[in-house]
Amino acid sequence: MSLFIVATPIGNLGDITLRAIETLQKADIVAAEDTRTALKLFSKFDIHAKLVAFHAHSNERELEKILAELKTGKSVALISEAGTPGISDPGFALIRKAIEEEIEVVPIPGACATIAALSASGLRMDKFIFLGFLPLKKGRAKLIESLRDRSETIIFYESPHRIQKTISQMAEILGGARQVVFARELTKIHEEFFRGNLTEASEFLKSKPIRGEFTILLGA
Ligand code: SAM
Repeated sequence: MSLFIVATPIGNLGDITLRAIETLQKADIVAAEDTRTALKLFSKFDIHAKLVAFHAHSNERELEKILAELKTGKSVALISEAGTPGISDPGFALIRKAIEEEIEVVPIPGACATIAALSASGLRMDKFIFLGFLPLKKGRAKLIESLRDRSETIIFYESPHRIQKTISQMAEILGGARQVVFARELTKIHEEFFRGNLTEASEFLKSKPIRGEFTILLGA
């Protein structure tokens, strides 16, 4: 009876680990945020576990069902749509509950956009803060303002529709000279890094249509 927290690729399927494949192959149940993405992994890596959905809208009853399976001795592997489960993805409630119930929780580490972006950003990596997605409205400006005097690298996730607005807002509040890196489409064909300051980033984003997934890193 173990709950395995299995990281899956954030784009390039070659980034799956041998342990992740083995864990998914041996699991009795795979609880997946997105069953369609999971099925692609299943067919590519010869995985035949029972597949159940476990996503942001899953309720207490669905969580209890997974716990009940664990308590009968089954092994469950949790995967998100991409990357590490629980990192701006569903999973936290299940992980915490499993620990409360004294079920063994085992990490199977692998891809995570935060760490991949940081590792090639060129910004300081001895100290960093991860803030996930910014609040959409309430508290957004205040949160950005609170970063003014931080000297650690600050990492955010952002959607392509909001990136331009977010970078302009950061430039307005923190000043255009603040260092920024954004990592686009990590591990995919169109992977790209922008490194510069907030004014330059704002101009860059206006110069061409924006597509894909972004991780933003603010320097000091
Ligand atoms: N659990 C995932 C992880 O471990 O990185 C993050 C899931 S979160 C819902 C999705 C966000 O992660 C995207 O909006 C984007 O900001 C970032 N992201 C995911 N894949 C990415 C990629 N290939 N390149 C850049 N950023 C990515």
